[in-house]
Amino acid sequence: MRLLQKNLCMIAMSLAVVSSGHAAPVVEPTLHIRSEASGAGRVALTLDACGGQTDNRILSALVENKIPATIFVTGIWLKRNAAAVEIMRAHPDLFELENHGGHHIPAVDTPQKIYGIRSAGSPDAVLAEVESGAAALAKTGEPAPKWFRGATAEYSPSAIAMIRKLGFKIAGFSINGDGGSLLGAKETARRIAAAKDGDVIISHINQPTHTAGEGVVQGLLALKAKGLTFVRLDDADGFGDHGTTD
Ligand SMILES: [Zn+2]
Repeated sequence: MRLLQKNLCMIAMSLAVVSSGHAAPVVEPTLHIRSEASGAGRVALTLDACGGQTDNRILSALVENKIPATIFVTGIWLKRNAAAVEIMRAHPDLFELENHGGHHIPAVDTPQKIYGIRSAGSPDAVLAEVESGAAALAKTGEPAPKWFRGATAEYSPSAIAMIRKLGFKIAGFSINGDGGSLLGAKETARRIAAAKDGDVIISHINQPTHTAGEGVVQGLLALKAKGLTFVRLDDADGFGDHGTTD
């Protein structure tokens, strides 16, 4: 009996450790696209529109240079950026809009902070974030999203499994182009220009006042000059780790 009590006590203690907010492990999945048999190579450009405004330096460079991109939009961003959405919708050959969540809340189902942002914190809250993002996109008249990328691009493994069950593939990346839009123009341009066949680039299109946006344009033009082509996630065969695409 004493042994049983001791065991129960230890179980209670370990539960206490979990519920006192000890961060459960999160993962940052990678994503690549199948490489091209011939040619200079192809890359997928993905741009997050988390909230805030539109970086028209990037948007107009994509239109002028006919560079296709996959844009991950939140419900918050869609509400405030109707003009940019119009431009994207006017170029269906260039822009694929995908799900970045309803409210830009990390898809982590235990309570913790990721880069200072409070996680969804429960399975239900992860579900609500994913579904509200898809619903916001449906209102624009865009095709139903097939890809999801959570805020901060980090996930708990159980959240990944839930999101896959909802039918979404999860978009990791292989090149962090702008470091959350916090890098300078030069470093951003250098990182993007270094992309190789099969890479998936992540950057941001919602920070018009950051110098990173200038670097995004420079890096993309450098890739184009080298003869690389750009594909959207729907047009490529993407494969990620941590069970994000299979
Ligand atoms: Zn974001």
